[in-house]
Amino acid sequence: MNAEDRGVTDAPDPIIGRVSSAVDSWLRWLPSWSPGTHRGRSRMCRRCTGSPVLAAAGLDTDVPHQVSHALVSRMQRIIDRAVDNYTEHELPTLHAELTGEEIWNAGGFEPGSGLDPEYEGVDLDPESDEEQPFLFTMAELAEQTKPEPPLPRPPLSQEEKRRIRVEIELADRYAQDIGQRMCFALAVHRPRVQAAVQRFVEPQIQSLLDELTRTLEPPTE
Ligand SMILES: [Zn+2]
Repeated sequence: MNAEDRGVTDAPDPIIGRVSSAVDSWLRWLPSWSPGTHRGRSRMCRRCTGSPVLAAAGLDTDVPHQVSHALVSRMQRIIDRAVDNYTEHELPTLHAELTGEEIWNAGGFEPGSGLDPEYEGVDLDPESDEEQPFLFTMAELAEQTKPEPPLPRPPLSQEEKRRIRVEIELADRYAQDIGQRMCFALAVHRPRVQAAVQRFVEPQIQSLLDELTRTLEPPTE
C-alpha cells in the first residue's frame, strides 16, 4: 500500500522544486557566459569559498569563478527566502528587530540591491591600484548617501535581547537544515550541471589556452 492509499499525502519538500528551477535558470544563463565578459578577481569570494553547494553540484574542480558563483548565488537566494519566511512567521522578536532595522536604515544608495544573481555578493569595486586611485568607489557612495537616522534607536530590554539571541540560533539552525536539504536536492542535478559546463565553458577555456600557446610559440620560418 502506498502513502496515498493510506490517506497520507507526503507532500514533497518544496526545496526540491526551488532547486530544480534555480538550476534551470542557471542553465539558461550559462550559454551567455564568456571569459571576456567578466573581470577577473584575485580576492577570495566569501560566498563561494568552502561552499558545500560547489561539491553538491560537482563544480568543485577548475570552473571559472563567475560560472560557479552564478549557481551559488541562486542557491543562496533559496536559503535566504526560506529563512526570511521562517523568521517572519515563527520568530516574532527577531522579525520585529530586523524590520525595525530596515525602517531605521531605509533610504540611501544600495549598490548591491537588485542585481542579477551572477553579480550578487561579488565585490562591486575593482581592486584599487596605488598608481591610479579611483575618484570614488561604490562602497563610499553607499556610505555617503546613507541618511542619518532621525533619532537614536530605543534600547532593547534584557528580555528582548535574550529572546533575540534564542531566535537567532533557531534561524541559524533552520538555515543549516535548508542548506542540507538543498545540497541533497542539488546533487540530483549534478549530471546536467557538469554536462553544461563541458558544453559551454570548457571549449571557451580550451580556445583561450590554445591562443596562449600560439602566442608563446616561436614563429616558424
Ligand atoms: Zn563567488
